[in-house]
Amino acid sequence: MNEVTTIDRTQRSYSKAAQAFLDRKPQLFINGEWIDSSHDAVIDVEDPSSGKIVGHVVDASDRDVDRAVAAARAAFDDNRWYGLPPIERERTMHRLADLLEREADLLAELEAIDNGKPKGMAGAVDVPGAVSQIRFMAGWASKSGGQTLAPYTMPTGSVFSYTVKEPVGVCVQIVPWNFPLLMACLKIAPALAAGCCTVLKPAEQTSLTALKLADLVQEAGFPAGVVNIITGNGHTAGDRMVKHPDVDKIAFTGSTEIGKVINKNATDTMKRVTLELGGKSPVVVMPDVDVEATAPGVAGGIFFNAGQVCVAGSRLFAHKSIFDDVLEGMSQTAGFWAPRASLDPDAHMGPLVSEEQYNRVMGYIDAGKRDGASVVMGGDSPASDGGYYVNPTILADVNPQMSVVREEIFGPVVVAQRFDDLDEVAKMANDTCYGLGAGVWTRDVSALHRLASKIKSGTVWGNCHGVIDTALPFGGYKESGIGREQGIQGLDAYQETKTVIVQL
Ligand code: ADP
Repeated sequence: MNEVTTIDRTQRSYSKAAQAFLDRKPQLFINGEWIDSSHDAVIDVEDPSSGKIVGHVVDASDRDVDRAVAAARAAFDDNRWYGLPPIERERTMHRLADLLEREADLLAELEAIDNGKPKGMAGAVDVPGAVSQIRFMAGWASKSGGQTLAPYTMPTGSVFSYTVKEPVGVCVQIVPWNFPLLMACLKIAPALAAGCCTVLKPAEQTSLTALKLADLVQEAGFPAGVVNIITGNGHTAGDRMVKHPDVDKIAFTGSTEIGKVINKNATDTMKRVTLELGGKSPVVVMPDVDVEATAPGVAGGIFFNAGQVCVAGSRLFAHKSIFDDVLEGMSQTAGFWAPRASLDPDAHMGPLVSEEQYNRVMGYIDAGKRDGASVVMGGDSPASDGGYYVNPTILADVNPQMSVVREEIFGPVVVAQRFDDLDEVAKMANDTCYGLGAGVWTRDVSALHRLASKIKSGTVWGNCHGVIDTALPFGGYKESGIGREQGIQGLDAYQETKTVIVQL
């Protein structure tokens, strides 16, 4: 533990390329060009590893939002993207993926500076993940079509009936701060493959990689107005985007609280909505596991990205016969997950994204302690000269009424409970308003599949956690969201199905 307490958390200096990017004049990417905002308002860019302000981005005005939506509307209505041969759309998307690969190092650094995640993690997970979103969906540009269908109630041969898949239209895409570039690409990829035009807004805390993405969209040669990227606050620019009458679809990833607001705001104009929201994912460890091999996986399921993951394995249920051993095994990973500055090459976990998030997470830890939870590991913040570091934390002696058990903390905090049998743990796992992800660790194949069928959640992982692949649908049950992203289901969400019936 000595090594953990003596970590130097001073942020490293930035590369020339990153500094030059931070020094750029704050602008918006609208209609294929970098343009000035209609007003002077900006948002600070803060490095959460130091707490220092390192740049500024535009806080888009209502007029800016209207310009971006008008550009997307015009691009969609004159068919300049959907009207292209699918091979051209596919090629343009692959060019964008190539450019993301070319800029991988800078993108990983910008993500580390802006979000606080370790640069190594951003380079290994976020950037390749973003690339695969674009590449996988690029192929669908040429492969999605309708069906020829025979009627049921009319004589065979009396009508010719078929379906056509058409793009939904102008999309507004709003993403959170935990995986900024990955989420941005996960959003634009299916929209572009379907033939839609889009206005994307990153979270106000983490705009840098979305702005770099705009550079690459321009270089890849997308027609003007097909992808517009604007920065701004959620309650102003985001709200304006969601309520805009010229928008056909909203895709949002973020908190359940804001997801509910957006869903209501979309109703008046009946916009299509997909929502990927919060979670409080259960992780069940059955008595048969090899504890030594399993505990680090369970720890990774909560401490990866400092727990700022919608599917973070934040509710641990370990069988009573191995409960203490699992917690002991997880505690042994404290050194590995000890938070470090994001540009420290040894970092596996960085600071939290912002002071607000730091206060929120520490507030939950304090509430847990007040409610009687015992701290098995962490529960505090390490020494640093600025920055928003929280030690990886395990809380035990908790009960289902405590806020730390019920509410999404979005930090490196796991609550651990014991269970006796499979039916009991399935009930405990489902005792939540969320249903995004769940993990089951066992060598008993039958137990794994029985739990997979009992747990109400969009994804169930067996002997792993948080694994996401662009070919596999992802989304939530219950208050964790509406609709699915990724896979063919992700493309569907950007298409209307038109039925054509011709009397013969
Ligand atoms: P968090 O609470 O984790 O910051 P939010 O759900 O508040 O997550 O934010 C996710 C995204 O939603 C961000 O891009 C934010 O700007 C945006 N947002 C926040 N409030 C609104 C709103 N009322 N309408 C539209 N977008 C919003």
